[in-house]
Amino acid sequence: MNSAIEQRRRLVTELPGPRSRALQERKVAAVSAGVPTGLPAYIVEGRDGILVDADGNQLIDFGSGIAVTSVGNGNPRVVKAVQDQIARLTHTCVMVTPYEPYVEVCEKLNALTPGGHDKRSALFNSGAEAVENAVKIARHFTGRQAIVAFDHAYHGRTNLTLGLTAKNMPYKDRFGPFAGELYRVPMAYPYRWPGGEKACESDAFDYITDQVHAQVGEHNTAAVIIEPIQGEGGFIVPPAGFLKELALWCAEHGILFIADEVQSGFCRTGDWFACDAEGVVPDLITTAKGIAGGMPLAAVTGRADIMDSIHPGGLGGTYGGNPVACAAALASIETMEADGLAERARAIGEILTGRLTELGERFPQVGEVRGRGAMIAMELVEDRETRKPAAALTAAVNKACHSRGLVTLTCGTLGNVFRFLPPLTISDDLLAEGLDLFEESFAEAVAAIG
Ligand SMILES: *Cc1c(COP(=O)(O)O)cnc(C)c1O
Repeated sequence: MNSAIEQRRRLVTELPGPRSRALQERKVAAVSAGVPTGLPAYIVEGRDGILVDADGNQLIDFGSGIAVTSVGNGNPRVVKAVQDQIARLTHTCVMVTPYEPYVEVCEKLNALTPGGHDKRSALFNSGAEAVENAVKIARHFTGRQAIVAFDHAYHGRTNLTLGLTAKNMPYKDRFGPFAGELYRVPMAYPYRWPGGEKACESDAFDYITDQVHAQVGEHNTAAVIIEPIQGEGGFIVPPAGFLKELALWCAEHGILFIADEVQSGFCRTGDWFACDAEGVVPDLITTAKGIAGGMPLAAVTGRADIMDSIHPGGLGGTYGGNPVACAAALASIETMEADGLAERARAIGEILTGRLTELGERFPQVGEVRGRGAMIAMELVEDRETRKPAAALTAAVNKACHSRGLVTLTCGTLGNVFRFLPPLTISDDLLAEGLDLFEESFAEAVAAIG
């Protein structure tokens, strides 16, 4: 039983060990080269903040499978809910014959997402699918076609969502043409706004909305889609008040405001949703990742008038809102409530921010530490004057972490951001041990490449 996994790192072989290396050989021979592996240690079991590989090494998990296992791997409530549900009913397709867990997940989403207004939800399989459906719904409801997205945005890898995603390599390169009527505007990115943080605070909103006015036209715009804290693009937090101003501007022009909270949602940032911290109420919100403890589930939740404007059969899919995934979501949500995981995310955020800020006092390569709750990042630069991105150093730190058995992730359009996404159930001791390893790795990489 994996509840016996001690919450400590333990290395019994080099990384990856012989069993993982043999599996990696099979992987290369069987799996498309397009699907890469960050750290080729093959995981056989996991619990909370520890992943155990095929060689018996215990790794510390600072990635949660990209912000998915927020309630911890092998969460007992999720495991039991999944086992009970799959034994009772595996699948029917909700459009053929329905079942209660689908309805209950939608009820929970309608209650937990920002705003006390009447809402409806629809369930899907992945974040990209939720984003695609939010775009469909926004176009259908408004009768307009243009969708405005941002620099550094990540909204998925399907054709429509790739058109919204900003970064070429590795996501978009040679995969075009992309869908039409998708427009991109600059992101309110304080650290890299021309003229700096203060200028971003005062100018970003006007600059961005002027761009929409001039290049698209408000009356042509169905929706503006934004990650309240950008994920893959570098954990970019816009200035306080920017999102609210943008949402108000959207409302004034009949443009729907879509918050893509696939990565930032479900307690990750210390609230149920990142929008909560600023009192922003989106018209539509997309969720996935942390929603179901690792089972594939995603959702679009939004104003009832918008969501109910779609004709029957206009939304759906074979697997979307599968009963087992729904049972996992209900158990995850129950865990977040019962175990106070939003509060825990804030505590984790304080620990991470404290330690990383201290590291920044020793190393000028630490450009900025930012984020909220347990969604914290460090942007690495060659020096603080030029703020030139240090992508090679970032990759070297990541590699050094991996060799020590710390599972870490980078991000950022320029490849120079280190992100921290531990499970919210990680213990203080394990978090501290992981941060010790990170600091060692950082110093080692700086010594090697500066
Ligand atoms: C991961 C992510 C997506 C895509 O989700 P998938 O489940 O990988 O399709 C969309 N939006 C954001 C903000 C994400 O972080």
